[in-house]
Amino acid sequence: MANPETPLDSLLKAQIAAQGPITLAEFMATCLLHPEHGYYTTRDPLGRAGDFITAPEISQMFGELLGLCLAQAWVDQGAPDRFILAELGPGRGTLMADLLRATHKVPGFHAAANLHLLEASPSLRALQKQTLAAYSVTWTDSIDAVPDDAPLFLIANEFFDALPIRQFTRHIDGWCETIVGVAQDQLVKGYAAPVALPALAHRLDDTKPGQVIETRPDATPIMARIGAQISAHGGAALIIDYGNWRSNGDTLQAMRNHAFADPFAAPGQADLTAHVDFEALAQAAAPAVATGLTDQGALLARLGIGARAQLLSRNLSGAALENHLGATQRLTRAEEMGSLFKALALYAPQHPAPAGFD
Ligand code: SAH
Repeated sequence: MANPETPLDSLLKAQIAAQGPITLAEFMATCLLHPEHGYYTTRDPLGRAGDFITAPEISQMFGELLGLCLAQAWVDQGAPDRFILAELGPGRGTLMADLLRATHKVPGFHAAANLHLLEASPSLRALQKQTLAAYSVTWTDSIDAVPDDAPLFLIANEFFDALPIRQFTRHIDGWCETIVGVAQDQLVKGYAAPVALPALAHRLDDTKPGQVIETRPDATPIMARIGAQISAHGGAALIIDYGNWRSNGDTLQAMRNHAFADPFAAPGQADLTAHVDFEALAQAAAPAVATGLTDQGALLARLGIGARAQLLSRNLSGAALENHLGATQRLTRAEEMGSLFKALALYAPQHPAPAGFD
């Protein structure tokens, strides 16, 4: 069956015909962030009407509790009178709005915060502008544009899973990179010839021929910058995403209308993500200290979601109460988002780990 032709389908086929197959990372980057036809560039993919729903869109409690966790870390570090409050990939701005509302009464926190949002999508930036109209915000395309002379308190929910991955299949003679080519006028997945890759030498011990691992080149400089700033000036980073301590297996997935789709059909029209390798993020952030991985459900429980949920439910009844109880379960239960999603925190060696982390 022929793919429905999307603008990116034709564009990618023409590019591959002229220059040869591309890496999976190049394919993902084009699908997600092509300036005219990219998935994030052109739409608001979040929420019930979009292709997927994220934790901050499920309940205000998510942003509130993580916001209070960051504010507690700021207090524990002596409440520095100027700091950078940053979010990577803020979506609709919901998490940041909930975080700011919840921390409103923390004395001095708002006055000391300089708010920076890293967002590549013009359409989502416009939404964030509306949601955060009451605050002074600086938007940026690059973490390097965020001032690096002050403590950094940062949050990222479902940001790293959206960054392009490279994929490698172990072979007797090295690693075969996954590439995207064209066959019978369709975009298809293929494999490059095996090459030895010194950067993957550490994965020779725990993989066998045929096994697939994934790397995320764009995450490394971002984490290095975050780690350097936190270890030099203090601060903390909270990173929540789905994934595991070490990448293992082909985890590329496409979501469209809340259902799994073929990643190579209709490029630019589906969300493409892959599991996050938290070990790689933690290592790239050295010399900042990384906590172990904590399940989202356990983290939210330790941060007090039980008491917060109960308090909010007092003013609710009927369908609104049911929604609220359902949302609480969705965020925390192991069979929903509670254990699929994990959290990692980074902090400076001279400071305590943020509350709620292992
Ligand atoms: N954190 C939000 C949105 C998650 S979706 C939430 O939890 O609801 C991923 C977000 O990252 C979107 O805002 C998307 O536009 C942004 N994004 C994806 N790739 C990016 C990149 N390379 N640079 C900056 N932002 C990016």
